[in-house]
Amino acid sequence: KNAIEVRGVRKVFGTGENQVAALDTVSVSIRENEFFTLLGPSGCGKTTLLRLIAGFDFPTAGEILLHGQDIAPLPPYKRPVNTVFQSYALFPHMTVAQNIGFGLEMLGKPKAEIEARVAQMLKLVKMEALKARRTSQISGGQQQRVALARALAPQPKVLLLDEPLSALDYKLRKEMQIELKRLQNETGITFIFVTHDQEEALTMSDRIAVMSAGKILQVGTPRDIYDRPAERFVADFIGETNFLPGTVLSKQAGVATVKFASSATISAGYPEGFNPTGEVTLVVRPEHADLVPDPAKGTITGTLSNIVYFGTDTHYHVKLDGGGENFIVRHQNSRSSAVIYETGAKVGIQFEEDAARVLKD
Ligand code: ADP
Ligand code: MG
Repeated sequence: KNAIEVRGVRKVFGTGENQVAALDTVSVSIRENEFFTLLGPSGCGKTTLLRLIAGFDFPTAGEILLHGQDIAPLPPYKRPVNTVFQSYALFPHMTVAQNIGFGLEMLGKPKAEIEARVAQMLKLVKMEALKARRTSQISGGQQQRVALARALAPQPKVLLLDEPLSALDYKLRKEMQIELKRLQNETGITFIFVTHDQEEALTMSDRIAVMSAGKILQVGTPRDIYDRPAERFVADFIGETNFLPGTVLSKQAGVATVKFASSATISAGYPEGFNPTGEVTLVVRPEHADLVPDPAKGTITGTLSNIVYFGTDTHYHVKLDGGGENFIVRHQNSRSSAVIYETGAKVGIQFEEDAARVLKD
């Protein structure tokens, strides 16, 4: 069942020459109980989409349904939706407990009910010990927990989270990522999480929508998005990728054969709905390719130009025989990994047919 359906939503800011389409006809369905992430670079329209769902702004065109009902007539406070802002927006002069109870007071809930609910929320975010502190006197990570508790207190059906972890340092952010997953599991509330951090999106989400310039380019599980990117932008934005320009020779049953400058040919699959002809790009993840000492055994060949040791793995930069960008192969290190390659060596690069993918140039 769908919690939220966004149908053909456009949002245009400004007029005349200053017009910006912040959202350019976006459609997406978010399921009940899902940890759903909007991922994309700054300015791609993530906050705009959240604001339309929350009711802080209205679409120029299209509609948004919540559990099948058009929510256009509902003001923000009547929508079963709540938001955690990047800035937390806590009241500094109020205590932790007062901040958490604030929304319930505004809704005119009875005092006893508010107290019980606040106690429950304090426990959920593990802030019982600090309930009487002013929020100006707690750490950033603790403020983040209070902001979450305050947003969860009125029991929204959907929680919107706009880059909620971006103000935290690395270690705290990792902790809060796990904490957020736990909260979502325990409460069963649909989370719509916004981030520009691809690793955060991959590790936390049930499904991800990748956005660019006001459009949703692909929706899928983290694995779908990583292993089967639908567009060049998606492959580039998420993880590291090698891009090999080539020309389509033939195609059959979802597999295209592509010829490269070095005259090597590779067969690989391509996304549904894409008809590869002419110039295309072949994408291969560095960890899905293997280096072989004998160039004759490689799908493609080149010269090792650089070896970079990263502790957990080693990156081999290969200058391809056909020219173009260096191809990167990533090998995982083990304690017994032997050093068998030296820069300047002629090498082959091997990969399975399903490790490569043909995308639009
Ligand atoms: P993101 O959250 O992904 O960084 P936003 O949704 O904030 O992106 O912005 C998307 C685009 O819409 C940007 O080009 C931004 O400048 C523009 N925009 C957002 N809000 C407004 C506004 N109130 N007035 C004019 N332009 C806006
Ligand atoms: Mg934003």
